Amino acid sequence: ASYFWQPIMNLGNIFNNFINNIAYLERIFETMDEPVTVKDAKDAVEMPKIRGEVTFDHVNFSYDASKQILNDVSFTVKPGESVALVGPTGAGKSTIVNLISRFYNVNGGRVLIDGQDISQVTIHSLREQMGIMMQDSFIFSGDIEDNIRYGKLDATHEEIVKASRTVCADEFISKMPDRYQTEVRERGSMLSQGQKQLISFARTLLSDPAILILDEATSSIDVQTEKALQTGLNAMLKGRTSFIIAHRLSTIRNCDKIMYIDNGGIMESGTHDELMAKKGHYYKLYTAQLDEVQKAG
Ligand code: ADP
Repeated sequence: ASYFWQPIMNLGNIFNNFINNIAYLERIFETMDEPVTVKDAKDAVEMPKIRGEVTFDHVNFSYDASKQILNDVSFTVKPGESVALVGPTGAGKSTIVNLISRFYNVNGGRVLIDGQDISQVTIHSLREQMGIMMQDSFIFSGDIEDNIRYGKLDATHEEIVKASRTVCADEFISKMPDRYQTEVRERGSMLSQGQKQLISFARTLLSDPAILILDEATSSIDVQTEKALQTGLNAMLKGRTSFIIAHRLSTIRNCDKIMYIDNGGIMESGTHDELMAKKGHYYKLYTAQLDEVQKAG
């Protein structure tokens, strides 16, 4: 592993900063075919160290003039809270997280982090404090340890093992032929999707972002990995503000707050218990999914 990393480490800070947040990189790959429209404002300042309060203040947004996607959306999330975004496909869940990481500028209203309007800070200083994990976890050719170290280039082997234990990735890694030194390919073919996600969790935990954005994978995962993912996810969420486009019942249930998105805004917001008691949109979604799970299982 050290042969691979030595030249990279020697490049020093510039490269370090660039590559430090793999989650940011993942997002770059993801959006490569989308137009990059957002630039730093002329007098943009550095985003101070983020505590994690996120506010939408009467936000309006559309990708193009033909269709309004978000219409006067307002909410506040406290530092450290985890929020599940749920609702029908095309409702605007990804759009909301895209605005938090400022892949687009709002058309009206403001997005604030710790009270700072994010349109007035440099994109780099904002995103280097965020972890953005998309559905398809990014795996590159190298060993598992290298893949995790992407989250923090100077992490020691011990730190990597510790992070892996915390997110429940250590168990499956320990069973691999060469454990942490097991070589994997770019497409990660020898790893299941759940295992790729666990690696990505360990990497994110190492990079320690103040705000975490996660698009949860939809595909079905075996029961054992599902359990590891849930425990790993909870460990990763601890102490950071997180937004999860959630598909798994276990995830949704455990979040501090659930926002049901549809028709350009937040139709319902509350804890799982509150929304279940309400017997509205969320209740319908949840009971329908529960039926599916029970039929499948
Ligand atoms: P969700 O995440 O809830 O499935 P999205 O936020 O991805 O919903 O999409 C909300 C709406 O915005 C959809 O109608 C979708 O077609 C549209 N949309 C999403 N991304 C773009 C884009 N880059 N350009 C134009 N329209 C988009």
